[in-house]
Amino acid sequence: MAKFSDFELPASLLDGITTQGWSEPTPIQQKAIPIILDGRDLLAIAQTGSGKTGAFVLPILARLSQNRSLLETKNPCVLILAPTRELALQLHQTVEMFAAPLGVKSALLIGGASEVIQKNALALSPSIVVATPGRLLDHCRQGNLSLKGVECLVLDEADRMLDMGFWPDIQKILKLTSNKKQSLLFSATLSDEIHLLAQKLLNKPLLVEINANRDAASIEQLFFKVPEREKPIFLRDLIVDNGLEQVLIFTRQKKTAGELAYHLKKDGFTVEALHGDKTQASRLRAWEAFKKGELRLLVATDLASRGLDIKELPVVINYELPADSHDYIHRIGRTGRAGVKGLAYSLVGEKELFKLRALESLLKKKLTVTTPERYQSYFDNESGSNSPLPAKKSSGEAKSAKARVKASAQDRVQGGARRANHPSQKKKTQAADSFDYILPDFQ
Ligand code: AMP
Repeated sequence: MAKFSDFELPASLLDGITTQGWSEPTPIQQKAIPIILDGRDLLAIAQTGSGKTGAFVLPILARLSQNRSLLETKNPCVLILAPTRELALQLHQTVEMFAAPLGVKSALLIGGASEVIQKNALALSPSIVVATPGRLLDHCRQGNLSLKGVECLVLDEADRMLDMGFWPDIQKILKLTSNKKQSLLFSATLSDEIHLLAQKLLNKPLLVEINANRDAASIEQLFFKVPEREKPIFLRDLIVDNGLEQVLIFTRQKKTAGELAYHLKKDGFTVEALHGDKTQASRLRAWEAFKKGELRLLVATDLASRGLDIKELPVVINYELPADSHDYIHRIGRTGRAGVKGLAYSLVGEKELFKLRALESLLKKKLTVTTPERYQSYFDNESGSNSPLPAKKSSGEAKSAKARVKASAQDRVQGGARRANHPSQKKKTQAADSFDYILPDFQ
């Protein structure tokens, strides 16, 4: 087993790693750290929860501390781009945690926060800038910083950036940087788009792929057929009957997230909604309160499904399945992190049953879907639409619902077919002819 001390990291970084309680490098860290220390370009396919932030932050800081003249320059030499404000904030927290003891300054440039404060932070000549693309470009246009001196560029959650339409902004940003730089691309998926992006951005890159479904294997996944109209009641029963104490609930739409949070609050739960229509300040407030355990429930759209990290979140509930089944993996990946077991419930309505097939093909596994007794007749009817819905269950039924949840918890759904063993993945791997391919670590 590799150790952090096997890498050429400065002693103060090793101390920081020990303080964090990171006893050994995660697979992505084992693979990526030596490559980045070598100054090579990298395409890393790894999900949040894999320890990917440390995989680039640690070697970047090690290189900076070896080349201290870089720290004297007015403009940043490291630029880390993230698709969302929350992710950028989280990345910046990790950067600061390790950078401050080395005397390396950093700044965070995100929308929805004070430009003046950010301008003042830039005036202190930070060596590392963590940013979302739009706000970074605003500061560049105002002449608050130059990107000419960027020696290392990181694009985190690059697939998400493309999904969110950031490609034009990224192109503008690239034009402001010099060609002579190390570029690191981190993505949860290895799609054709990511391949193309990598071919445009990276110079003789190495490709590291860590089994994307690894986390799913440590997450117990339970699926319940629940009529759409019954979901609010079923959800409340699920939380109360099973004594769930900290639950991240996902909806597909902002409207549903807002309405569900409103009703749950009326039912006496401490709950907030997290979605794109909320102000940045209230999004951050809600997320921080949830992380601290001040909120029992957080109802979020897929905005929160990637990147955001919370230690030991025990339960995720998919109130609705996501439109894109890849988001299912990202959602449930909020739990079962860093070796801790997680539990993911999904409430599958009559209009969502078709999505199970896409999910099965993604997870390469037949899923066990339980139909609670009280909804049996509803789903027995082919269309489901004519069935009378049952009244709210009695307390005796609540007990049996709990027992059923426990019983089906034993029907563990393994999520982790190995991507590289799948024919389509093999094709992609072969297509990666411009990369030195480093095999996934399946230990
Ligand atoms: P990330 O994938 O970067 O979002 O990291 C997910 C979580 O894993 C964070 O809470 C990190 O603090 C934690 N983490 C990162 N590297 C390690 C490690 N080597 N050992 C234990 N935990 C880690």
